[in-house]
Amino acid sequence: MDYRALGLKVGLEIHQQLATHKLFCECPSRLSDEEGGIRFERRLRPTQSELGEVDAAAIEEARRHLSFVYEASENTCLVEADEEPPHHPNEEALDIALEISLLLGAKPVREVDFMRKLVIDGSNTSGFQRSALVAMDGAIHVNGKRIGVPTVLLEEDAARKVGESKDEVAYRLDRLGIPLVEIATTPDIQTPEEAREVALAIGSLLRATRKVMRGIGTIREDVNVSVRGGARCEIKGVQELRLIETFVQKEAERQLMLIEVATELRDRGAGTVPEDGVDLTHLFTGSPSKVVQSALKKGGKVLGWVLPKFAGLLKGKLGPELAAHARVAGVGGIFHSDELPAYGVTQAEVDAVRTALSLADQDTFVLVADEEAKGHHAIEEMRPRAVQAVRGVPEQTRDPRPDGTSVYSRPLPGKARMYPETDVPPLRIHEAHLRALAERLPERPEVTVPRLVKEYGIHEQQARQLAQEGSDDVFELIAHEFGEAKLVATVLLYNFSELRREGLDVDGIPEDHLRELFSLLKAQRFAKEAIPDLLRQMARKGVRASDAARAIGVQGMDLADVEKLVDEVLDASDDVVRSKGAAAEKTLMGRAMERLRGRADGKLVSEVVRSRLHARLEKKKEKGKEN
Ligand SMILES: [Zn+2]
Repeated sequence: MDYRALGLKVGLEIHQQLATHKLFCECPSRLSDEEGGIRFERRLRPTQSELGEVDAAAIEEARRHLSFVYEASENTCLVEADEEPPHHPNEEALDIALEISLLLGAKPVREVDFMRKLVIDGSNTSGFQRSALVAMDGAIHVNGKRIGVPTVLLEEDAARKVGESKDEVAYRLDRLGIPLVEIATTPDIQTPEEAREVALAIGSLLRATRKVMRGIGTIREDVNVSVRGGARCEIKGVQELRLIETFVQKEAERQLMLIEVATELRDRGAGTVPEDGVDLTHLFTGSPSKVVQSALKKGGKVLGWVLPKFAGLLKGKLGPELAAHARVAGVGGIFHSDELPAYGVTQAEVDAVRTALSLADQDTFVLVADEEAKGHHAIEEMRPRAVQAVRGVPEQTRDPRPDGTSVYSRPLPGKARMYPETDVPPLRIHEAHLRALAERLPERPEVTVPRLVKEYGIHEQQARQLAQEGSDDVFELIAHEFGEAKLVATVLLYNFSELRREGLDVDGIPEDHLRELFSLLKAQRFAKEAIPDLLRQMARKGVRASDAARAIGVQGMDLADVEKLVDEVLDASDDVVRSKGAAAEKTLMGRAMERLRGRADGKLVSEVVRSRLHARLEKKKEKGKEN
């Protein structure tokens, strides 16, 4: 797809947790698997901002009538519970944010003033998030192109959602208050690939400071996407940098689809959509549909709602959009006539509905089977979305899904949600302090990458990836001490990513455990083939390399041991040796490696197999001559 021709515009907001204690208290920035036993409940209501407006996103959130349950943990105090005012801001966090700003060439502000940003999804106990502008007007350069970074903010992370039911959302407080730096780019990104590259470049820069947190969930991106004729939609909280490209592609495709649908609807003269649905329960009393039956059993109703001239535009198009809005009312699913008969709804029922609603060919209908009040509420939520469909793409906040698609979550928040934080004093930033920070800035990734290639002879792609993952320091430490730079790079990139995919916390393996692993390898205590198994054990049990080697029975073998074992294999494979002669080498090598993998180097085994096989064949030849 030619994204430039489509007028694709992408802007990123990157949120990175900083490796220091919380922003407004001294609690450690650590997540906890256990709840601390204290739970409390809150409800939040939207209030006016200083400008007298009430935020649209806040109103919709309030309509969901949710109550919020908070679980305290060992890493939280009364500040997170909003029972105590914030303490003095963490100045180390501010320094890290300033360092990042300087690396981005942004100009720090003279005074840091914290603001309150209205947040009403319950993720903050106070109903707002504290946020401060730290620097302005920086940039990042990717493939020779300048992407602006208009703002760098320092803010507090939100509480972590741990559960959700119909009318309650549960949060754990451990994440609340962890310092975050927010880096926003201008919407100058023009292709999905460029979006990924910019995100990775910013990620490398952040990791170059060595002062940011690593691992799943420590960096999150909001991806703003629009195409020409579309509208800004924000996919909020993407955790996997490498998936950004897919999110942008899918969102661009969705907006193009909606533009096409809008054009078709206008051509058909669509536009008026009825306010509400009609009770059609009497047509469904004997319905074989399970959804309908379970709704009727609860005393619910089947409501039919007409979408005039929408036929054929729901399935795979507007259908999922409308269903997402019905979910705001707590209705799990809807039926629409584009996909019926199906789900137990019969053709006869479809015909009866069409007759009852006196539909024309181009008209379509939506069925909602649920409690009556909820059904009406669902239609009330869907109606504005159906009306918008004629105009095109509505602005939205969307939730990312694991497959790279996204789903509607709420309207885009407006600008009317900031007001000053009166509990936190402003912080002055002095020139001398900035100069001191500027003097000890870390090496930038664009300097690190070519240096690693030159000094260690690794591939440029590997060097770049090490910098992106922030593993370049561990790489240098180990490669410098033990040599084998290529192997070290392969282990840190390839083996680590394999094990991450298995869900293992390889990033949590301490540096000295990794150094021990390579020092044992150098001492030939085991072969390099054993590394993945050893790392798996080290990550799983948190043990040292030597303990892992003992636990999984990987002990180094000397030449005599290898020869003995190869001889055993040859004895057991005499039939193969007889029938194939020298050509048996490959089979024998396979059998030997089955027993030696991880315990001896593959090259050594191969040499031993070859020499022992040839010795044996010589002997057989001699014997043949004698006879
Ligand atoms: Zn605390």
